[in-house]
Amino acid sequence: MHYVSTRATSASAARNPQLFSDILLGGLAPDGGLYLPSAYPQVSGAELDAWRKLGYAELACEILRKFATDIPDADLKALTARTYTAEVYRNARAGESAAEITPLRVLEQGERGTLVLQALSNGPTLAFKDMAMQLLGNLFEYALAKNNDELNIFGATSGDTGSAAEYAMRGKRGVRVFMLSPHKKMSAFQTAQMFSLQDPNIFNIAVEGVFDDCQDLVKAVSNDLSFKARHKIGTVNSINWARVVAQVVYYFRGYLAATTSNEQKVSFTVPSGNFGNICAGHIARMMGLPIDRLVAATNENDVLDEFFRTGVYRVRKSSETFHTSSPSMDISKASNFERFVYELVGRDAQRTHDLFRKVETHGGFDLSGAPGSDGDEFKLVGKYGFQSGRSTHADRLATIRDVAQAYGIVIDTHTADGVKVAREHMQPGVPMIVLETALAAKFNETIVEALGKDAERPSGFENIEALPQRFVVMPAEVDRMKAYIAEHTGL
Ligand SMILES: *Cc1c(COP(=O)(O)O)cnc(C)c1O
Repeated sequence: MHYVSTRATSASAARNPQLFSDILLGGLAPDGGLYLPSAYPQVSGAELDAWRKLGYAELACEILRKFATDIPDADLKALTARTYTAEVYRNARAGESAAEITPLRVLEQGERGTLVLQALSNGPTLAFKDMAMQLLGNLFEYALAKNNDELNIFGATSGDTGSAAEYAMRGKRGVRVFMLSPHKKMSAFQTAQMFSLQDPNIFNIAVEGVFDDCQDLVKAVSNDLSFKARHKIGTVNSINWARVVAQVVYYFRGYLAATTSNEQKVSFTVPSGNFGNICAGHIARMMGLPIDRLVAATNENDVLDEFFRTGVYRVRKSSETFHTSSPSMDISKASNFERFVYELVGRDAQRTHDLFRKVETHGGFDLSGAPGSDGDEFKLVGKYGFQSGRSTHADRLATIRDVAQAYGIVIDTHTADGVKVAREHMQPGVPMIVLETALAAKFNETIVEALGKDAERPSGFENIEALPQRFVVMPAEVDRMKAYIAEHTGL
C-alpha cells in the first residue's frame, strides 16, 4: 500500500509514493497536499461476513493491516489489542458494555425509519477523538522505538484535541507533549482534565492570551525550520493520516452491529468540523462498506453544509467564525476536505492543487457548474452519498430537551447537532446512525441551559476540579516559548 499527495503534480517534490510508516509521524505532504492511498483497499462480502464475529480490537487490526502493509501483522495485533480494551474504554454508561467499545443504542424505530446512536465517547477524555488518538499514541511509541528516535508534539488547543492528545501520549516512551491553551479560557472541567496530568512527558502551557495567540505561537515556532528539526517538533492535528484510518473502524463496527446481512444498507450522520470524522466514513464507503448516505451536520459555522447544498466552498475569515455552544465544530475551513475534493475531481492532483491555491488567493472555489464557476463536479457529489444539514443554538437546546424527554438520555451539544440533522434525513428501511462525538458532561453549561440541571458525570470524574494541577503560565512570546521547549527537550 502506497500513499500519494493530493497535490502530487509532476512538478511537485512529493510525488514519490510513501509507505504508511513514512507518513505516520507527519502532517502535510511537502507540496502542501494531504496523503491518501494510491487506491483504496477493497473489502469483500466474505470478509465482511467473517468480520461480523470480531471484537473491536480484532476488527481494527483487520482494517489497519490493509493500510499499514509495512508493519508486521503480529505488531498490529498487539498494538490494536492494547488500544481498544475495556480498561481504556471504561466509562460505558448504563446499558452499555465497555467491551463493545462503540455500542449502539436504538433511539427511535417507526414509520419514519430507525434512528440509532453510536457511542464513541467512552474513552479517557469523553470525546470521540480518543478513538483515533489512543491508537496514534501506541503507533508513535512503536515507530519511535524502532528507529531509536524521539518526537516532541507541539500544539494549541481550546479543549478537546489537546486533552485527547495528552491522554494518548502520557507515559509514552520517546514522546513529549507541549500543549498551549489560553490561560483561564477553558471550562473548569477541561482545564482539570488536562492540568491534573502529572506525567513528566506532558507539559501544559497556559498562555496569557486567547486561542488565536496560542495558534500563532505554534505557527511561529513551526516556521523556524531549523529549530523544528533540532527539537524534533511534530503535531497530531486532524490531517494526520493514521488518525483518519483509525476512524474508518467505527463505521465498519456500526454497520456490522446494525445489520445482519451485507444486503442491508445504513446511513450515518456525522457532527462535522474539520471533515476528519466523516472523511473516514467516505473511505469506508469507498472500500465497499454498504453505506447509503453520509450526512454532514454543521452548526452555525456551515462551510460544509453550504458546499453540499450548492457546490460552493467558501472558507470564512476568523472574524466571521461564530463562537457556538458546539465549539469543537467552530471552524472556518475544513482541513481534511481536500481529501474528498481530490476524489471528486477524479484524483487530478493538478486540479486539486489549483483549487486549493484558489482557496488561498480567493477564499474558496465553485464547482456548481454555474457560468464562471471553477468546474461542474458538484453534480457527482450524490454518487458519493453526501448530504448535509445545519443546526443552531436554539436547535441544540430543543434537541437536547427532546432527546432527554423521549429517550431518557442526555446528549452533548455536538451530538445534538447530529441528531437534529439526522432526523431531517431519515428513510424507512435504512437505519440512520448518528455518531456521538462527546459526552454531555464536557459541555455542562449548555446542558444546564437546556434542562435546568447538570449533566451526569461518569464515575472517576466526580471531583477532578479538586485534583492538584501541573502547568506553567507564560506570556505570548515566541522566544520564551522556544527557550522553554529547548530546556525541556534537552536537545
Ligand atoms: C473534533 C470534534 C468534532 C468535529 O470532528 P471533525 O473530525 O473535525 O469533523 C465534533 N464534535 C466533537 C465533540 C469534537 O471534539
